[in-house]
Amino acid sequence: MEKECIFCNIIAGNTDTRFLYEDDTLVVFRDIHPHAPVHLLIVPRKHIRSINDLTPEEGGIVSRVTMVARDMAREQGVHKSGYKLLFNVERGGGQVIFHLHLHLIGGWGR
Ligand code: 5GP
Ligand code: ZN
Repeated sequence: MEKECIFCNIIAGNTDTRFLYEDDTLVVFRDIHPHAPVHLLIVPRKHIRSINDLTPEEGGIVSRVTMVARDMAREQGVHKSGYKLLFNVERGGGQVIFHLHLHLIGGWGR
């Protein structure tokens, strides 16, 4: 855990953020500033700065994050209408929280 990291603090339970799903590898919660009717963040428990910093051994985490995003899309009822899955990577890629996370964005025109 990185003491200064907002997502590490959310994962540690130091905020009132509600988890829609959690397991040993990751947690899922709503984005505080949603860009769409459904905007979830799928966040590995392990502090990894970005996709750039993934080691080969950590590749399984991305696979797990993606599979859970797929399941959450179904659970949120956006799997048929469609959705976006997005990793922002570093500042130029729009990343502002430097703890790896996948955005699940959808719910338009359901
Ligand atoms: P990034 O641009 O780094 O890919 O996305 C970070 C996201 O985290 C942003 O969409 C932002 O709204 C969200 N966010 C930042 N701080 C918090 C927080 O304290 N709680 C929640 N639920 N979302 C946050
Ligand atoms: Zn962190």
